[in-house]
Amino acid sequence: MRTGLIFIVVGILAFQATRNQFVWGFFGHRLINRLAVFTLPEAMIEFYKSHLDYITDHSVDPDKRRYAVKTEAICHFIDLDKWIYENHGIPDKDYLKAILKNSAIYLISKDSSTLLFDTIYSKFKGADSLFYCKYWMDSGLITNGGIELQAICKAIKLHNFNLFDGKDWIFPANYFETIVPFIQVDDMIEIVDRFSNHGILPYNLERCYNKLVKAFETENVNAIVRCSAEIGHYIGDAHVPLHTSMNYNGQLTNQHGIHAFWESRIPELFAIESFDFVVGKAKYIGDVRERIWEVILESHQGVSMALEMERKLSVSTPDDEKYCYDTRLNVVVKTQCKAYAKSYMELLDHQVEERMRESILTLGSIWMTAWYEAGQPDLNALLNKPLNTSEEEQDSFMLSKSGILDREHE
Ligand SMILES: [Zn+2]
Repeated sequence: MRTGLIFIVVGILAFQATRNQFVWGFFGHRLINRLAVFTLPEAMIEFYKSHLDYITDHSVDPDKRRYAVKTEAICHFIDLDKWIYENHGIPDKDYLKAILKNSAIYLISKDSSTLLFDTIYSKFKGADSLFYCKYWMDSGLITNGGIELQAICKAIKLHNFNLFDGKDWIFPANYFETIVPFIQVDDMIEIVDRFSNHGILPYNLERCYNKLVKAFETENVNAIVRCSAEIGHYIGDAHVPLHTSMNYNGQLTNQHGIHAFWESRIPELFAIESFDFVVGKAKYIGDVRERIWEVILESHQGVSMALEMERKLSVSTPDDEKYCYDTRLNVVVKTQCKAYAKSYMELLDHQVEERMRESILTLGSIWMTAWYEAGQPDLNALLNKPLNTSEEEQDSFMLSKSGILDREHE
């Protein structure tokens, strides 16, 4: 425990020394990535410490990419309340199934395009079958009412379809000839995704995790370090309650700015001076998908508290006690006063601190689990391999499917 404490202190001190160079607002991500390194077991820690600055600095790459890649934004959140409200439950934990359950599926023939299934309007949505539209039911071509979702998934996966590659989802008839009985050779099937616009954070996290396992398996130092840094960003996002809600910036309840208040202002003011970052050692995660969803659901449970406490405090505080002026990078900005932020933090009863602590531990545990699943490669043997990230292809999560909307920066 003593050595763990020393590492953490060293980690924080090194962090403070470079604090002024930070891009404002990225503070939390950098701290989470940095401190997660000190949760790692002996067999991993030297390697991660040797890349500590890279892992810290590049924790914010995904957010920077949001300006360059329009659809990067959907990787950072999920509007869980939308699905809980509309579908009376959380979406399918399998990304393809989640999309299919919330999409319109068209049959495209030579000169027409006809709706086959429209799951989002179906009273059966959420079920494990897709049901034909009335037009087809009345056509006499259908012998049964629907088709198994599993059958469509299998047909798509059989053709090595990459869910994240950004192409429009138009598939040739031969993918589906055994499933849709009346499909002709020249027909196409188009799946119009109505799901992903509302955020794909948990699915993207699972994808990042799989990439990290692959990076360890191939002992690719550049990929290990880059994937570790980037998954840290998304793990951090997943622990923030407002990343799981449609009301992500209080815009639906007239609480604009609550997002940055919670996730930037409070950590920036109080993390170093008062948060307890002794979080223990990374733990092996038996089921990574389940753990990711657990994190998302725990965050979601915190949404009402984050909103309610801000509302309560806001109505009882005069405006001139709420906002102060601060100079950042030579620019004067209006921001929440320290005393006001402290009152919010206290009303939240350690919520920000707890979520940050959880982020650090979950991140270390995810790194360790990926390493373990890859057969525990000898990371000390990779210690002297130089990092060459300029050659490492930038993974821009090119999700440029038409119709996916961006969201204002959080
Ligand atoms: Zn983010």
